[in-house]
Amino acid sequence: MTILVRLIYASKVSPQFGPMDMRDILGKSRHNNTQAGITGLLVMADGYFFQALEGDRSAVHQVYAKILRDSRHNSSVVLSSAEIEKRLFTDWTMGYVLRTEKNRPLFLSYSADKYFDPMSMRAQAAEMLLADIGEHARQIGGTESAV
Ligand code: FAD
Repeated sequence: MTILVRLIYASKVSPQFGPMDMRDILGKSRHNNTQAGITGLLVMADGYFFQALEGDRSAVHQVYAKILRDSRHNSSVVLSSAEIEKRLFTDWTMGYVLRTEKNRPLFLSYSADKYFDPMSMRAQAAEMLLADIGEHARQIGGTESAV
């Protein structure tokens, strides 16, 4: 039986992270996630990664365990991990959104201060923010090729 879950975590981008790393991560993610039936959204903003992984519980935890070993980020914190009725990101094997000056207000909409700090967000705020970022990305034309 498939138990569908959504796991959300935040981590810090490593100092040695380079311009080609995101292309590599998205390429691998989209390939691997398609095989594993995982969908989600990856956000990079202000030195943080912020990601939702949705799919079968064991598949999601396996990919998260792999992500944890990746030296391109560190200090990962699980913000939320819960069973879900349906996916939020059915359309993306791994959508990608980068914070820009244009979408800055959206990123700050659930923050208590003027800095975006996903690592200190509560589960519900993290879920709502990722849903809003995904919806905004769809409205402006999707994220799949935004690298
Ligand atoms: P290989 O590419 O053969 O990698 C083998 C090992 O080397 C892995 O442990 C990998 O972490 C490490 N590695 C590979 N390339 C590099 C590099 N350039 N620098 C440092 N270490 C490296 N993968 C997914 O499948 N799905 C995701 O949704 C996903 N999201 C990610 C989000 C973030 C923020 C980061 C940093 C990585 C993410 N990854 C994701 C990548 C993941 O961490 C693994 O690198 C990837 O899944 C390994 O693919 P592979 O099994 O084909 O192994």
